[in-house]
Amino acid sequence: MSDEKTEALEVWIDQDLCTGDGICVQYAPEVFELDIDGLAYVKGEDDELRQSPGATVPVPVTLLQDIVDSARECPGDCIHVRRSADRVEVYGPDAP
Ligand code: SF4
Repeated sequence: MSDEKTEALEVWIDQDLCTGDGICVQYAPEVFELDIDGLAYVKGEDDELRQSPGATVPVPVTLLQDIVDSARECPGDCIHVRRSADRVEVYGPDAP
């Protein structure tokens, strides 16, 4: 893994595209959760869902692979992982 990708990362979900299938929750239930509206949201260490549009939570290093797999498998292409420092997407539909 390159240095670039070991920097602090954060993840957010575009709920407008979420299909509610819950694949992300299967991969990383520590960070993703389906709410009663049937859509997935990111979740902080306090276990609270972040429901404002574009809200992010930090990516714990130990969960990086699970979160990257979620982004790859997400049928809505709506899981975005970006560098915290400059908000450049490193995994997800807008990654280079
Ligand atoms: S995998 Fe993607 S489409 Fe499926 S619930 Fe999670 S965010 Fe929504």
